[in-house]
Amino acid sequence: MFTIFCPQCDKRHLVGTRRIVRFENTSDGPRAQVKCLQGHLVTTDFGRNQKKPGAEPAPSPGHRGRTDDDCTEAA
Ligand SMILES: [Zn+2]
Repeated sequence: MFTIFCPQCDKRHLVGTRRIVRFENTSDGPRAQVKCLQGHLVTTDFGRNQKKPGAEPAPSPGHRGRTDDDCTEAA
């Protein structure tokens, strides 16, 4: 089961793999054409959901300090 967003329904649907009409591998990753619960054909790009190395924002260990002091003084 996975979720798709249907622009015509303007909402997400939880669908099973049986609703996949067509599946293909593109340079951006797997892409599937899925029928939503109302029968609309929705193209779902699975490649966007995959994590890319280095895509996640690094935690900022130096956040506390001068910035917080500035905020405290402003408040
Ligand atoms: Zn739909």
